[in-house]
Amino acid sequence: VSFGYAEVAREDKTRMVGDVFERVAKRYDIMNDAMSGGLHRLWKDQFVRRVKPRAGEAILDMAGGTGDIAFRLARAGADVTVADINPAMLGVGMERARRKGLEGLLWAEENAERLSFGDRRFDAYTIAFGIRNVTDIPAALGEAHRVLRRGGRFFCLEFSTTTWPGFKQVYDSYSHHLVPRLGKAIAQDEESYRYLIESIRRFPDMPRFKAMIEEAGFVRASVEPILGGLVAIHSGWKI
Ligand code: SAM
Repeated sequence: VSFGYAEVAREDKTRMVGDVFERVAKRYDIMNDAMSGGLHRLWKDQFVRRVKPRAGEAILDMAGGTGDIAFRLARAGADVTVADINPAMLGVGMERARRKGLEGLLWAEENAERLSFGDRRFDAYTIAFGIRNVTDIPAALGEAHRVLRRGGRFFCLEFSTTTWPGFKQVYDSYSHHLVPRLGKAIAQDEESYRYLIESIRRFPDMPRFKAMIEEAGFVRASVEPILGGLVAIHSGWKI
């Protein structure tokens, strides 16, 4: 299998992403800790602080995977729907929720590009480390806009491109050499982690992604870079 996905057709990318997460689901949480040195937990905390979930509000956590964001939102009392295209990831998430004693989350198999939810259903939409895996990003942003009520908030946590000189070289070397090796050692899956790195490299930079959010109809779009933009929190409002 080759993960150089510039050449592959749309359906192939969606299927390939499906295969990747199917394979890594069981080891996904361990790998996140290994690859980020535990930092992803801090980024997720920072992200949820920015969302400021309120008790009782309806939040759609898209590409919610094994539930890391959803659990943080639910602990703040929000009414959370976790949606993901991959049943294996959702399965791991449901089991984790059970073990943590977190009840009342809704779990839904959904493609971010074509949601089955009605218009203006949610107060907020979150997507963490998910949007770069989506084949048609403008379609997913359009759907986010559609399912939000007026006054609803959109938040995206994603890897981006750091603007810190020097740091970029260190990161490139780390990601190209070490991450696939960690993937091999921990998840016995070097190719999937090569794909993940490649998808980060191809993702639009911060100004470009902010513009895409505005093109989808959101207003007051903004970006909060973390580590110079290695990771970024983008947000916008539907009016
Ligand atoms: N949000 C979780 C987190 O932060 O730990 C999971 C992130 S994981 C890197 C990316 C998730 O995106 C996977 O669970 C994958 O199945 C999901 N995904 C990929 N393409 C998708 C799509 N088109 N629609 C919905 N989910 C998708």
